[in-house]
Amino acid sequence: MYKAKAYSAASATSPLTADTIERRDLTENDVQIEILFCGICHSDLHTVRDEWSSFMSTVYPVVPGHEIVGRVTEVGSAVTKFKPDDIVGVGCMVDSDGTCPQCKAGFEQFCPNVTLTYNSPDKHLGRVTYGGYSESVVVDQRFVLRVPPNLDLAGVAPLLCAGITTYSPLRYHGVTKGKKVGVVGLGGLGHMGVKFAHALGAHVVVFTTSPDKKEDALRLGADEVVVSRNADEMQKHAGSFDFILDTVAAVHDINAYLNLLSRDGNITLVGAPPKPLEVAAFSLIMGRRNLSGSNIGGIAETQEMLDFCGEHNITADVEVIPIQKVNEAYDRLLKSDVKYRFSIDMSSMKSESPR
Ligand code: NAP
Ligand code: ZN
Repeated sequence: MYKAKAYSAASATSPLTADTIERRDLTENDVQIEILFCGICHSDLHTVRDEWSSFMSTVYPVVPGHEIVGRVTEVGSAVTKFKPDDIVGVGCMVDSDGTCPQCKAGFEQFCPNVTLTYNSPDKHLGRVTYGGYSESVVVDQRFVLRVPPNLDLAGVAPLLCAGITTYSPLRYHGVTKGKKVGVVGLGGLGHMGVKFAHALGAHVVVFTTSPDKKEDALRLGADEVVVSRNADEMQKHAGSFDFILDTVAAVHDINAYLNLLSRDGNITLVGAPPKPLEVAAFSLIMGRRNLSGSNIGGIAETQEMLDFCGEHNITADVEVIPIQKVNEAYDRLLKSDVKYRFSIDMSSMKSESPR
């Protein structure tokens, strides 16, 4: 084992502070990565504050971070896919059983034995896994992704979660030219959803609670912007959408969006509010509408998404921060005050002398 600097939270009410953690020595299939940037996902905040305890409790201390970009420093003896100095990414998963029907079909994210990047049982060290708010990480090569050489790395980090989480359902639901697509919430996930839906050729409408994000939404690729608190503006789009991607992190009225779907239209939840949403039966039965969900994407699809970003020059719009500003960033995330993803410059970890 070796020691690495990290930021951890000691409880649901503690701030993140400098810490020292242990990482495993490389096994033959492992890749050791010096972390350059790590995005801040709203899931990090939900987990640190134990907001998802009804589904998955947080084990403390927690080291969040699953939007990792870094440089390979060392590889195990059986590693064939990577070599030192390669620029690579790691997303929300670091292991799965590889043998179940889900894994065999390329859906590692639905494997009953998936190991998430943080807060998941760690078969190597016997504690829970620790994520990317750290200077270094060791990951099995099967869960390490190639990063296209032409992209800005601070903006690549968020692709590893926000990118794949929006790309996957847009592809699965056949978003393409001629389709009318809504994106609800212009945060980290939402702004990637807009970029992808636009790149796929759809007519994109953004729903936001923040009127000041209107111009940005158009610049990011939206064709129209609706301030969702304005009932008249909402009504104009009633019954007209083929597909809506809902990225909202808080409890909200999903019926208002179900009513905007056309016959057989689909709304997919990727946002994961801590409390259940109320669904009115009539919102679904009128128009035979569909409500579904989606969770990140498999490893092969994540690589496909990164390659798509390389071809189309797509990265996240980021505000780069030092790790010392992470608690302030969490407070701003709760106020929907991020344009549009925080990306932590991990070189800032060097000045820390952890307890
Ligand atoms: P984020 O950056 O905070 O964006 C969420 C956006 O939702 C905000 O920017 C805001 O957009 C809107 N919003 C916030 N509160 C609202 C409210 N009360 N009513 C209506 N709209 C509101 O968060 P994120 O990182 O994109 O994550 C979004 C959600 O997806 C989180 O719950 C996260 O845990 C989840 N997630 C799921 C997956 C998955 O695989 N399914 C993966 C990653 C994240 P406006 O200002 O435009 O209204
Ligand atoms: Zn995430």
